[in-house]
Amino acid sequence: LWVTFEGGDGSGKTTQAALLEEWLGGLGRTVRRTREPGGTEVGVLVRDIVLHHRGEISPRAEALLYAADRAQHIDTLVRPALARGEVVIQDRYLDSSVAYQGAGRVLDATEVRDLSLWATGGVLPDVTVLLDLDPDTARRRLDAADKPFDRLEAERADFHERVRAAYLDLAAAEPGRFVVVDAGRPSAEIAAAIRDRIAALL
Ligand code: C5P
Ligand code: MG
Repeated sequence: LWVTFEGGDGSGKTTQAALLEEWLGGLGRTVRRTREPGGTEVGVLVRDIVLHHRGEISPRAEALLYAADRAQHIDTLVRPALARGEVVIQDRYLDSSVAYQGAGRVLDATEVRDLSLWATGGVLPDVTVLLDLDPDTARRRLDAADKPFDRLEAERADFHERVRAAYLDLAAAEPGRFVVVDAGRPSAEIAAAIRDRIAALL
């Protein structure tokens, strides 16, 4: 079973991925929780480039760096874990690139998606949980949690609006893969809704 979490910055992906990991672990499943960018040793180096050189990287170079991180991650970590029968819970995957590099940086969405599909051999998760949240609420949440400045603040408000809209379009286009959750609800309610959907697949 392969589950990915998607959503804007501050939508609670990392929190919900951890809660799902805990629940599945309690059921006796071997769980591998991982993330993009930065799920591998090489990926950590790529993450450092894309996050600390934002603003100086050209949009196409940025898309290629995310795709390189993704290729390494799928080839060396995700595919082997799935082959061993483990559950993989992943914070961000190719939908992030369609939303951020496609809609956010205004590259062609189909080209960005095709690049990721080439990078990974075209594998898609069983379930993608989209945590949908308006960017203003997300910003207040990150502020309250005293999260680092290099996140939401690095881009203008319209960037995050485009990212949110792109995610909702992706979910509408693939209703069989996506579960859309209102991320403005209390964390425990969101976790329960996610567990219900995953339980049906176990
Ligand atoms: O999810 P996480 O907080 O690790 O993401 C780090 C940063 O990278 C976020 O600010 C996100 O906006 C950005 N990002 C991006 N394009 C992606 C994935 C993440 O711009 N494909
Ligand atoms: Mg996170």
